[in-house]
Amino acid sequence: MPFEKFLSRQCPICQKSTKVTLEICSQTRAETIDYEALTPYWNGFFKEKIYFSYARCAECKLLFAPIFYKPDQLEALYGQMSPNMDLVPMAALLKTQKGYFNELKKCSNLDKGYIEVGPDVGVFTVNCTREGAFDKYWLCEPNKEVASTLGRVLGDRPYQIIENMFGFSDIPDNSSSVAVMIQVLDHLLDPVATLAELKKKLLPNAKLLIVTHNEQSLLRKFVGWKWPAFCLQHPQIYSPESMRMLLEKSGYSVDSIERTKNYFQFSFLLKHLLWAFGLKVKSVPSIFDFTIGLKLGNMITIATPN
Ligand SMILES: [Zn+2]
Repeated sequence: MPFEKFLSRQCPICQKSTKVTLEICSQTRAETIDYEALTPYWNGFFKEKIYFSYARCAECKLLFAPIFYKPDQLEALYGQMSPNMDLVPMAALLKTQKGYFNELKKCSNLDKGYIEVGPDVGVFTVNCTREGAFDKYWLCEPNKEVASTLGRVLGDRPYQIIENMFGFSDIPDNSSSVAVMIQVLDHLLDPVATLAELKKKLLPNAKLLIVTHNEQSLLRKFVGWKWPAFCLQHPQIYSPESMRMLLEKSGYSVDSIERTKNYFQFSFLLKHLLWAFGLKVKSVPSIFDFTIGLKLGNMITIATPN
C-alpha cells in the first residue's frame, strides 16, 4: 500500500472523525504513487498535473487532502527547493501587496510589534516600514537566501529574522498589534495549532491579516480540476466559510473576508496568451508594459483575537 508512505489526516479544523466526501482529484492521484516518484512533480519537472485528492468535510465544509505528505517529507521537499520569485514581474507583485496593505491600514494603528510569517523578500513588509510606526519587526523566514534583501528592506528599524517558519517562542507574549500571513495557511498541516500559538503573541485588538486562495472563486469553477491552487504544496484550500470556521476554532473573530485584486503586467499576460496559441514571442512592444488588476481566486481575511 503506497498510502502508508504518506500521512492520513482528519479534517484539520474539526480534528475528529467527520464524514468526508471525495470531491476533486487529478487524473493520476498522488496518493497512488511512491514518495520518490512524486518528487519531480513537486519540483514542476513534468507537465502532467498530479496532486493528493481533495475531500470535503461535511461539518465545516473545508476542502482538504485526507492523505498528504508527512511533516518530515515536507521539510525535505521545501528544503531542496530553490527560491522562485520571477514568476510574476516585481512591479505587479508590489502593486498587489500594496493593495493588501491598504486593507490593513484601514483597521490598524500600525504600531507596537509586527509579526510576519513567510515574508520572503519583503514585498509586503516594505509598506509597513514606509507607513508604519512599529517598534519591532519579527520575521519568520527560513529561507536564508533572502535574509540580506529583507535586511535592506528593514534598514535601521529594530528587527529579528527567525529562521523557523513557526519559531514564535522568541517573540514575547502580548507584544504585537499586527500579524501577517500571505499565502501561508494553505500550506500548513495543522493550521489551528499555528494560529493558536500565534495568538499568544498578539495584543488585544491586534489585527491578523491572511491571504489565501479561495476554492469557491469563479476562477476555480471555471478552470475545474486544473486550477493551479490544487497542487502538491496545499494540504487544504479554504473558502470564506471554512476560513471563518478555522479562525473561530483557533480563537479569533473574523472582521472581514474579501476577494483580492492581483495585478499583472499586461505584456506578461499577452506573451503567455500568444504562447498558448503556439506563437513563441520573446518580447512584446513596450506600449503593453502596464499593469492590470484582476480578481483571480484569492481572498483577504482580517481577524481579531478573542
Ligand atoms: Zn471539518
